[in-house]
Amino acid sequence: MKILPAIAVSLFTAMVPAQAQTLSELIKKWTVNWNTPTEPFKIIDNVYYVGTAGLSSFLVTSPNGHVLIDTATAQATPLIKANIEKLGFKVSDIKYLLNTHAHLDHTGGFAEFKKETGAQMVASAADKPLLEGGYYPGAENENALKFPPVKVDRVIGQGDKITIGKVTLTAHMTPGHSPGCTTWTTVAREKRWNHTVVFFCSATIALNRLVGNPTYPNIVDDYRKTFTNARAIIADVFLAPHPEMFNMEEKRALIGKYGVNPFVKASEFHTFLRNAEKAFEEGLAKQRAATEAKQ
Ligand code: ZN
Ligand code: ZN
Repeated sequence: MKILPAIAVSLFTAMVPAQAQTLSELIKKWTVNWNTPTEPFKIIDNVYYVGTAGLSSFLVTSPNGHVLIDTATAQATPLIKANIEKLGFKVSDIKYLLNTHAHLDHTGGFAEFKKETGAQMVASAADKPLLEGGYYPGAENENALKFPPVKVDRVIGQGDKITIGKVTLTAHMTPGHSPGCTTWTTVAREKRWNHTVVFFCSATIALNRLVGNPTYPNIVDDYRKTFTNARAIIADVFLAPHPEMFNMEEKRALIGKYGVNPFVKASEFHTFLRNAEKAFEEGLAKQRAATEAKQ
């Protein structure tokens, strides 16, 4: 991808201190399949995967219209549209656009989807300026991290609900990864059982500066609150913005086998949170040590 060298520059100049080797490894790992097509499929009930091989996008359907959660990169928009149509749904039936967080790898298609469908763009107050400005938090002038800006029509906060027909999605504020990081939940039904589906925002450090962040001074407190609060969400189906976070391919390979839905795994979300919290504290310690070494 063309933007890779620019991202590398941005990391060196504007973001966290990083070693060159680690950085190139990270970039390679992060972006390799971002714009690679993959087959769309049903996860459970009315929840479908319509993203790319490397970036999630979820369609939650109802007879009254659909909800699209996250839109990968701008380049991936035709892939997402094709996936929606392949499943037999109409892009023009999308009524709401929901975002987990305003980073370029999950927001690139919103402007186009909104223009084409007239759907309402829904976001948290803290991520609204990022979506409307089309930039990465704390790196307003970093061209490599920009995405097409989109106007937010509706601002939501903790516990707010988006309802369409019989489908309800509930917002949970899980800030840190982005200032307005929003986790969404809904209830899916399968074989007479109700299952809570969580679309977790993310809690990785990504490109975030945790020490002395001028535009987000309370970032560490927010991450820690998120780890505490997210534990209160009891999830039967764990989904996230990057397919590898919820082992999508392993589970997809098991669809139709053994008579159970491989995406229903009650304890998985909390195990994920424990590991994410540990990784966060380790990353924070590294950034603190690097900052002290410089002083
Ligand atoms: Zn992100
Ligand atoms: Zn991401």
